Amino acid sequence: MPDLEMPCVQCKDVFLFTEKEQQIFYQRNMPPPQRCLRCRSKKAVSGENAPTRFEMVCDNCGRHDHVPFQPKVGRSVLCKDCFQASKSRLRVA
Ligand SMILES: [Zn+2]
Ligand SMILES: [Zn+2]
Repeated sequence: MPDLEMPCVQCKDVFLFTEKEQQIFYQRNMPPPQRCLRCRSKKAVSGENAPTRFEMVCDNCGRHDHVPFQPKVGRSVLCKDCFQASKSRLRVA
């Protein structure tokens, strides 16, 4: 797969969707990015243009975090760190 040149929907700049990135995106079954890296990192920092983030409180450590999905009521939610810890624990066991 060759590197792709993609127009950013936000700043109209053309950015490179590299072969390596393409593989990651296809593996995770994600749609191709629509914004250049700069706009994507800006978005991640401000979080203002991300209406699909939900605030939650970690069931394990009590930390406030934001998750990209709606936490289910009555079900324990974990912050990123605890989630990863529980995942690696599962993998070990
Ligand atoms: Zn951009
Ligand atoms: Zn936690």
